Amino acid sequence: MTDPTKINLLNRLELQGFKSFAGKTVFEFPAKVVGVVGPNGSGKSNIIDAIRWVLGEREAKQLRGEGLENLIFAGTPKKPAQGFARVDLVLDNANRAFPVDAEEVVLSRRVDRSGTSEFSLNDAEIRLKDLLPLLARVRLGARGIMIIGQGQSDIFVMSSPRERREMIEEFLGLREFRIKKGQAERRLENSIINIDKIKAMLEELAPQVRIFKKQKTRLEKRSEIELELEGLESSYYAFRYSRLGRELQTVMLPIAGLKEERNGLEGEIQKEEKILNALYQNDDDYAKVKEIRAKINAHLDAESVKQRELSRIEAKMEIQKEVPLYTHKPEEFKKFITGLKDEIEAVLGLDTVAEMKSHLKNIVASVQSFFSNRSEEPKIDLSGDWKSLADEIKGIRVQIDDLRKAEDDVSRKTRESNKEFREKVGKLNEKKNDLYAMDRKIQSVVLQKETIEMRREELEREWAALGKSAEALKRMPSGEEFSDETLHEAESRMMRLRGEISAIGEMDQSVFREFEESEKRYEFLEAQLADLEKAAADLKVLIRDLDQRIKNDFKTSFRAISDAFNEYFKLMFGGGKARLVLEEKVKPPMIIGEEGAEEESSSAEAAEDKEEELGVSIDLSLPRKKITGVGMLSGGEKTLVSLAALFALISISPPPFLVLDEIDAALDEENARRFSDLIKQFSTKTQFIVVTHNRSTMEAADVLYGITMGDDGVSKVLSLKLEG
Ligand code: ATP
Repeated sequence: MTDPTKINLLNRLELQGFKSFAGKTVFEFPAKVVGVVGPNGSGKSNIIDAIRWVLGEREAKQLRGEGLENLIFAGTPKKPAQGFARVDLVLDNANRAFPVDAEEVVLSRRVDRSGTSEFSLNDAEIRLKDLLPLLARVRLGARGIMIIGQGQSDIFVMSSPRERREMIEEFLGLREFRIKKGQAERRLENSIINIDKIKAMLEELAPQVRIFKKQKTRLEKRSEIELELEGLESSYYAFRYSRLGRELQTVMLPIAGLKEERNGLEGEIQKEEKILNALYQNDDDYAKVKEIRAKINAHLDAESVKQRELSRIEAKMEIQKEVPLYTHKPEEFKKFITGLKDEIEAVLGLDTVAEMKSHLKNIVASVQSFFSNRSEEPKIDLSGDWKSLADEIKGIRVQIDDLRKAEDDVSRKTRESNKEFREKVGKLNEKKNDLYAMDRKIQSVVLQKETIEMRREELEREWAALGKSAEALKRMPSGEEFSDETLHEAESRMMRLRGEISAIGEMDQSVFREFEESEKRYEFLEAQLADLEKAAADLKVLIRDLDQRIKNDFKTSFRAISDAFNEYFKLMFGGGKARLVLEEKVKPPMIIGEEGAEEESSSAEAAEDKEEELGVSIDLSLPRKKITGVGMLSGGEKTLVSLAALFALISISPPPFLVLDEIDAALDEENARRFSDLIKQFSTKTQFIVVTHNRSTMEAADVLYGITMGDDGVSKVLSLKLEG
C-alpha cells in the first residue's frame, strides 16, 4: 500500500503533440511545490489537462476540448500539425505501489488522428479498467478535488453532497475500495442476470429431466435386473454345460478300455475262426475215408465179379453133374423164341376161343418138339478154376476187411476231431456273444454320449438364443454349484427376471440420448448456477466487506475532517463556524466505469445499504453575517469555504500530490498569502503543482516553470526558479 508520508510521487511529465505543446516538452517535478506561471493562453492549463488525460479522463468537457482529436496539436501557420499526442507521467515507484519491479513507472497515454487511444505502463499496454484500480491504490484519479481545474476553486461548495462525500473518500484513499466495490457490484449484477437466465433455462428443462429421471431410474432398475439375469444365466448355463461335460467324461471313461478289450476279443475270434476254418477245410481224413471206401467198393465190385464167376463155375459144375435141360444153340433158341412170339401174337389176333385153343395146342406141340430134340456136350473139369476164384475172393475179402478197419480208424479219428471242432465252435460262439455284448455296451455308451452331446447342443442353442456366443459358454468356468432344487429355483428366478425386464420395456435410443443430453445440460447448468451463486455470495461478502471498510474508514475520519474544516473556515473567515454534516438517502455514488465513463450504480445490492447513500452537506455560519446556506455565499466566499475544506482534508489525510489551477485567483491578498502559507505548510507531506498568477503563491514555489507562446502558437517552457 501507499506510504502516505511518501511525497514526490510525481517525478516528471512529458508532453508531445499534446494541445499547444507541439514538440516534446519535459517537466521535472523535483520539488514539493512546483509553480507554473505564464501569460493567459500560453498553455498552462493544457499541462493540467495532460495530467488529467493521462490519469484516464475521457470526458471532453473536463479536458476543454471536443473529442480526442482536439488533444493533438492542431498546427499553426508556422508549425505543422502533429499526427498524435502523447503524455508520459513518470511516477515514483520506490515503494512498489505499482506492480512493476522498477524505481519509477511511466504511465503513458497516446492518441492518434484515427482516434485510437491506448494506455501503457512502462511500455506495456494496459486497459483503463486495469489501470484505474492501480491509480486508486496510490490515490490518483482524474477527477475530484485533487486536480482542481481553472474556475473550480469553489468545487467543494458547488458539488452535490454525494460528490463531496466522494471527494472525502478520495482523500481518505477509499476510492480504491469504491472502484473495487463498483466492479464487484457489476459482476454481481451480471451474476444475478446469469443466475436468472440459468434458472429460467433450468425451469424449461425441468419437466424433461423429471421424465428422464423416471425413465432413467426404470432403465437403471432394468440394467440391475439384466445384470442379475446375466449373472444367473451365466452361472446356470455354465453349471449345466460343465455338468454335462463331466457326465460325458464319466460316460466315456470306460470306452477306451472297452474298445481295447473288444478289439482284443475280436482279434481272438478272428484268430480262432481262422483256425477253425482251417480245421473245417482240412479234408485229409475225408479223402482218406473216400479213398478207403473207393477201394472197398472196388474190392466189393471185384469180389462180386469174382463171385458171379464163381457162381457160374459152380453152376456149370452143377450142370455137369445133372442132365442138361436143353442142348440147342443160342441162335436156334433165339429163332425158336422169336417164332414162338409171332405165333402167340397171332393167337391174340384170333376171334374165337376155339381157334385160339387149337392154335395154342400147336404152339405147345412145337415147344415140346423143340425141347425133345437134345444134343450131347463133352464134360470139362472146372474145380481148378473154382478154387483159384474162391481164393481170389477170399483174398479180396481179407483186403476189404482190412480196408474197413482202416475206414473205422479214420472215421473214429474224424469223430473225435469233430467233437473238438464243435467244442471250439461252442467256445468261439461264446466269445462272439461276448463281443456282441461288448458292442452293445459300446453302442450304449456311444448312445449316451450322443444324448449328452445333444443336450449340450441344446444348451448351446438356448444360450445362443439369449444372444450370446456358444464359444463363450464353452470357455466359461463353472463357478457356482447347483443342486436340483437350486437349479429349479434359478430357472424360476430367470423367468421372473425376464418378465420384469419385458414389463419395464425398451426406450427409444434417440429419445433416451435426447433426454440424456437434457440431463447433462441440466446438470451443467446446475453446476454453473451453483458456481454463480457461490460467486454471487462471495461478491456479496466482498461488497459488504468493502462497504464496511469504506464506512468505517469514512466515519473514523469524518469528524476529524469536519473539525479541521471548522478550524480552516475560522482561519479563512476570521471567525464563524462550519461543519460537515452526513446526510442520508442520497443517490448511489458515481463510479468511473470499466471504460472510464461514469456510470450510475443501479445495483439493487448497493441500494439496499442506506449508509452507502450518505451525502455530505455543509453547515456554516459566517462571522457577522446571517448566512446559513452555501448558496448565499459570494464567489470569493465559496472559494474560501472550498479551500477550508481542501486544507481540512489535506491535514487529515495528505494526498501524494495536488494539482491546483489558479484556485487562488479569486483570493484577496490576505487570503492569497494564507493560501500560500498553507501550501508551504502542507508541502512537507503533499506535492503541489500550482498554476498561478499570484505572487505570494509563486513565492511559495520551490520550482517555477514559465510558459510562453510565441508566434508559432506553440507553448514553450522556461525554468524560472530552481529548488533551494
Ligand atoms: P489562462 O492563463 O488565460 O488560463 P492558459 O495559459 O491556461 O491561459 P491554456 O488554456 O492552457 O492557456 O492554453 C490555451 C492555448 O492552447 C490556446 O492558445 C489554444 O489555441 C491552444 N490550444 C488548445 N488546443 C490546441 C491544439 N489542439 N493545438 C494547438 N493549440 C491548441
